[in-house]
Amino acid sequence: MAASPRAAKPQFALDLDSAAFARLCAENGPALSYRALFWPHADLPKDLVRWGDHHGTELRRLTLKSRDRGTRSEKFLFALPDGYAIETVLIRRHDGYTACVSSQVGCAFACRFCASGQAGLKRNLTPGEIVEQIVRLGPKVNRIVFMGIGEPLNNYDNVLKAIRILRDRAGLALPASGMTISTIGIPKALKALREEHLKINLTISLHATTQQVRSSLIPGARKHEIAEIVSRALSWAERHSRIVTFVYLVLPGINDTRADLERLCAMFSGQPARINLMRWNPVDGVALRRTDDGTLAAFRDGLERAGIPVVVRDTQGRDITAACGQLWLRDLNGSPLATA
Ligand code: SF4
Repeated sequence: MAASPRAAKPQFALDLDSAAFARLCAENGPALSYRALFWPHADLPKDLVRWGDHHGTELRRLTLKSRDRGTRSEKFLFALPDGYAIETVLIRRHDGYTACVSSQVGCAFACRFCASGQAGLKRNLTPGEIVEQIVRLGPKVNRIVFMGIGEPLNNYDNVLKAIRILRDRAGLALPASGMTISTIGIPKALKALREEHLKINLTISLHATTQQVRSSLIPGARKHEIAEIVSRALSWAERHSRIVTFVYLVLPGINDTRADLERLCAMFSGQPARINLMRWNPVDGVALRRTDDGTLAAFRDGLERAGIPVVVRDTQGRDITAACGQLWLRDLNGSPLATA
């Protein structure tokens, strides 16, 4: 007896670039505006909504569950149709708004300083589920960082496709130069990224100068050699004539010794690199301490003396539930909102 066919998953319009959308329209009726796909939900043209209903093509997938407002940032919790949830953060700058978007449900890398990794990886987001986070935040967004829940280079194809949809001139036409991939640095993916023709920005979460310390902070990356991550990232920077940013979270008693500073200077002196020194913003349930001003200043001065550009930052969004993934974990404990 033949197996019964599985129900086909509905097509999601935001997974499509303008060429694929035009092909779908050509197969399924009238030509429709690709740009209108990205309008606020309430303003979607009626012919587009009718077409979507008629052909079983989803126009939206996310449902807003909650918003958490701070003074400079706002965190949105969105439910997905399969019951999982993701979060997106909107950060106000003096010259616009940055969207910090999620790329996966959960994360496989289990960083000690991050709530997202504590429940493990549930699934990748599709390109459209990444794009919709920006659509839902509205047209004021003019920069995007892939720094929310998930490791973007662990969902490489869908993140790259989302970037191409976001910059599609027939749609949102956002410049790639306003987009930043923030990653722990997966060597194989960095090698592939080097060959992409995209003027994005790249930030590597380094956080250690020895393999042993890095493996204790980022257990999921213990097989990724620091030396290879650094050389692949610098190779990307040279290939694209860019500067790559390395983020170093200074943690007392873990990675803040003079030897760490000397190794950082040796790694980056004379290279197309900049260092963001971060100060830990304490989070419930995470046993890491905040560094003092003197240690941060010593690292900053040492790097500057070595000719390495350096900035000092606090972890973002201190005024709301701040750690990446923390809202998601607090509200949902890493579980689906409801059974699909
Ligand atoms: S910091 Fe990034 S890579 Fe690490 S667990 Fe969180 S989401 Fe994953």
